[in-house]
Formats: sequence, C-alpha cells, structure tokens
Amino acid sequence: MHQHSALKTKPDLQQEKILTGDRATGQLHLGHFIGSLQQRVALQHQHRQTILVADLQGLTDNGHQPHKVSSNILNVVADYLAVGIDPSKTTICLQSAIPALAELTMYYANLVSVSRLERNPTVKNEILSKSFGRAIPAGFLTYPISQAADITAFRATLIPVGDDQLPMIEQTNEIVRKVNTIAQDEILLECKPLLSKTPRLPSTDGKGKMSKSMGNCILLSSSEKEISRAVKSMFTDPHHLRVEDPGRVEGNVVFTYLDAFHPDVGHVRELKQQYQEGGLADGTTKKILEECLQEILKPVRERRERFISDKSQLIEILKNGSDKSRQEANQVLDRVKQAFGLDLFQPA
Ligand code: ATP
Ligand code: MG
Repeated sequence: MHQHSALKTKPDLQQEKILTGDRATGQLHLGHFIGSLQQRVALQHQHRQTILVADLQGLTDNGHQPHKVSSNILNVVADYLAVGIDPSKTTICLQSAIPALAELTMYYANLVSVSRLERNPTVKNEILSKSFGRAIPAGFLTYPISQAADITAFRATLIPVGDDQLPMIEQTNEIVRKVNTIAQDEILLECKPLLSKTPRLPSTDGKGKMSKSMGNCILLSSSEKEISRAVKSMFTDPHHLRVEDPGRVEGNVVFTYLDAFHPDVGHVRELKQQYQEGGLADGTTKKILEECLQEILKPVRERRERFISDKSQLIEILKNGSDKSRQEANQVLDRVKQAFGLDLFQPA
C-alpha cells in the first residue's frame, strides 16, 4: 500500500501538516469514523490540521440537485464535532469559501491529460456505479485536480484517508512535480496517505464500500433501532445454514466489522475459531457486534444532537476556519502564479 514512501517530505511525523476532507453529500458514517475520523482526532493534538468540507466537490455529481450539498454542509460539521474534532486545534473550512482553491484547479488542469483522468481507478469505478453513460460532468472527471489544489494549498504532507483516495494522492504528487519543474523550485510539497487499519469498510450487504451516495450506511446519527436493524440484515456466510455447520469468516461482514470495531482482539479471534469449527450462531455474533456498535455510537449520537441544534455556532466555526484558510491558500496561489509568470500585479 505504501508505494509513496520515498518522498521528499520531512520524515519527522511531528513536522507533518495534515489535510483531509469529506464531500458534503450526506451525513458521515461508520466508514468515515474508522477510515479517517479517528485518526484525525488523535493527530490534532500533535499536528497542524485542516479539514475541508468539500461542497464544490460534492456538486461534481449533484449539479442538478445542489440542495443535496447545501443542506449537508452543517451536518458534516456537526459530525466532526461529535466525534471529537476540536476547532481550537483543527481548522475546519468550507471549500467554496476559498476562491484560491478553484483558481489553483485552473492552473493545474493544464498539466493533466484527459486520458490520465480517465485512467484514475477510483474515478473509473465511480463513473460506472453512477451510470453517467457518456454524460460525465466535466467537473466530475476533473475532481482529482481540485483535490490536488486542496492538498497543495495548505502545504499538507500527510493525508488520513480511506484506500479509495490513494489514486488521488498519486495524481496530486504528479501535479506537484510538474509545477515544481516549471517553477524550478520546490514550491509545492509532495504528500503521502495515512491509512487506518480499516482502509475500506464494506457496506452492511457486503457488496461495496459504505458510501454516502449509495445509501448503504450506518450513520453516526443512526438511532438504536436503525443500528439494530442494520446489524440484523448484515451479510454473513450464505452456506452457514445450521448453528453446527462450519462457517466462513472471510467476506463475512459481521466479522469484518468485529475486526474493525471490537476492542477485544483476543475475543474476536476466539469467536472466529469457534465459527469456523461450527457451533456459533450468526444471531450470537450479530448480538455481540450490535452491543459494541451501540456503545460506540451512543455518545457520538448524543453529542451530535446537541451540536446540530445550534446552527449559528456551526456556521461561526466554519466561517472562522475559512477566513484563516483563505489567507494560507492565497499564499500558495501567489507562488503558483509566479511560477506561470502571471504575477504582473504582485508586489516585487
Ligand atoms: P460519496 O458517496 O459522496 O463519495 P463517501 O461516503 O465516499 O461519500 P467521501 O466524502 O467521498 O465519503 O470520503 C471522505 C473520506 O472518508 C475519504 O478519506 C474516504 O476515503 C473516507 N471513506 C469514505 N468511505 C469509507 C469507507 N467505507 N471506509 C473507509 N474510509 C472511507
Ligand atoms: Mg467518496
């Protein structure tokens, strides 16, 4: 996975600047929690960290229904606060409030070919699953370029993400190298991904990645009943018909989730062994998983309810973070404009 290790970025973790973000296309779910949010909460104590609510990127496949994006911006901020992102440590900003990001995208777009964009495996899969046919929005095909703008604008070197984002980081580093070649200077920094131990949480039906856009999620706000229903409907081993039958743990979503969320690794190992030998019912493994998820999500849900009920506080946090971020991004934009020789009005 770590094909990006030979980087020019400083190896000292202490020095890393972190940037990551989420599309404002829905509420955040367990995949975000385990794939990225937990790392962000832990890292915010030792590192400078910026988190971007990616509303513009959310529009790239929702241009016909912008309300889906605008109505979810504050939901995402409430989710951040509910899991423990602390706005006094982490800068939370809104992509559309930082014009330099769109400007950088325009410069970088000239350095990336259409065929390179079409080769991006995540974009390729998403195009198929969204059934665009030939009507792919230009903004959608080019969103990896805007992600490169987001990352480089904040001089970020460490990106805590799920594994669907690895191709974006690769493309970002290609752009960084091209801009630096033009500038004949290291004006942009290369970055590397930080994957969690669960870099891709499957949906409860086991058919794909848990995704906001696919509606196959256990949300951070899901009620006790919704969690219970989701766990009961989870895909297990279709050949494990009687309790005494040996069962498979590979591809069994209940065990994938136990691996991801259960704090007692030894207990999960014993459960797996018993399941493989035969004699452990799916009802029992589901009950253990449900208890564990209820325990994790109850305090998150309660905190979230408090945060979402005070919209003006959420807006203020986002506005303050965006004001700060605008200044940072403008500095990088100035250097990129200089590299392209389009700095006529900049002071010498
Ligand atoms: P959408 O369907 O709108 O693309 P999404 O659920 O894929 O939404 P994103 O906003 O695209 O969420 O992703 C935000 C971050 O969360 C990214 O770093 C992504 O890799 C990570 N992430 C999303 N889903 C998962 C998952 N199921 N497992 C692990 N990480 C995930
Ligand atoms: Mg996504």
